[in-house]
Amino acid sequence: MADKRRIVVVGGGLAGAKTVEALRERGFDGPLLVVSAEDRLPYERPPLSKDYLQTGEGLDDATVHPVEWYDEQHVELRRGERATALDVQARTVRTDAGDDLPYDTLVLATGATPRRLDLPGADFDGVLSLRTVEDSDRLRAAFADGARVVIIGGGWIGLETAAAARKAGADVTVLESLEQPLLRVLGPKMGAMFADLHRSQGVDLRTGVTVEAIEGEGSVSGVRLGSGETLPTDVVVVGIGAAPSVELASDAGLKINDGVVVDASGRTSDEHVYAVGDVARYPDALSGKEIRVEHWANALNHPASVAAAILGEDASYDDLPYFFSDQYDLGMEYVGLADPSDEVVVRGDLDGRELIAFWVRDGRVQAGMNVNVWDVVDDVKALIRSKQQVDLDRLEDPDVPLTDLID
Ligand code: NAP
Repeated sequence: MADKRRIVVVGGGLAGAKTVEALRERGFDGPLLVVSAEDRLPYERPPLSKDYLQTGEGLDDATVHPVEWYDEQHVELRRGERATALDVQARTVRTDAGDDLPYDTLVLATGATPRRLDLPGADFDGVLSLRTVEDSDRLRAAFADGARVVIIGGGWIGLETAAAARKAGADVTVLESLEQPLLRVLGPKMGAMFADLHRSQGVDLRTGVTVEAIEGEGSVSGVRLGSGETLPTDVVVVGIGAAPSVELASDAGLKINDGVVVDASGRTSDEHVYAVGDVARYPDALSGKEIRVEHWANALNHPASVAAAILGEDASYDDLPYFFSDQYDLGMEYVGLADPSDEVVVRGDLDGRELIAFWVRDGRVQAGMNVNVWDVVDDVKALIRSKQQVDLDRLEDPDVPLTDLID
């Protein structure tokens, strides 16, 4: 018998779009509706801090599906409408258009929101963050030749926007509170490689600094540091992390722990509600730990297994976390999940930034990052999944094929 449940997806980002796509691909032909706060068709975000930020081009390629697709697939896409409340007893979602949308199954794909600076002046004009196409357009407009740009946060947004701003000819300062950029993700050795890269490109990267205030009168004119120094600037980019958008779920009483807690099938503490993508904290199949992954590949791939589970298939998500970055002439991919305190083994040329770095615990590879070395991700994944202890001298040796390291 045809499945005529009404499925509502809250969130029109990549994870929301991939959820409806996967449901239709798996034969679900009941009513399907997406509530999307953004006016735009669902799109992929990586170009917003990379190519699109630098060129203003390529947005069509980043759009998940053209508008006709939603018509053809009988998906009702409510754009520019925000879900404001969830009633899990009545099984309805209220939106800011004043509608109460009934559902049989709900999927939360609400993503994450940039963390705001909690400092005087943080709301001045010229203090920018990056999540949407419009944010990226504002940054591009600000990254003029000779413009002064101060970037707060030496994470992925901070470093990718620094590269774009330098390419546009801006004077760039990056302020990071820890001793190295990307320290919590990559640890000190690989954090230092990114620090060297940016300094070699003329970025004034300052680590271990605190920011006291944004100065100006309505518009930003400077950034005051804990040392008392004020850095004059035309624009500030805030890239200090993102917080999962859990308000609907937490107000509705769902289990929350820095994200909406779900099981391996994506189901939340309410049996009719699922969560996917950035907002979902799920059990990692390899380590058993609960993790939340704020990267593109997770928004791309998590929905398929959640859609399968919604349709009653025996599904659980076991992809390894994966992401990539492009900065100047450095391209990298990272797969797995390391602790920054894990031992780092480098295969290749660290100074020349052409290498694979492995994070190793008890002789077992936890994660790998290939930098300007390509077509190795599948081999690195196999190493991680094997959970086998490997010989670290051979791991380091580029002449030993990665496939020879495991049985
Ligand atoms: P992020 O990667 O978590 O980095 C934020 C950085 O800012 C951290 O190093 C953080 O240090 C530092 N920081 C926090 N508060 C600060 C302060 N007051 N002053 C100076 N530094 C401060 O976050 P993001 O760069 O904002 O990116 C947001 C999300 O988008 C992340 O989940 C990121 O992974 C994702 N993203 C991914 C990519 C990619 O995959 N290539 C690209 C762009 C964005 P602490 O750790 O001490 O807080």
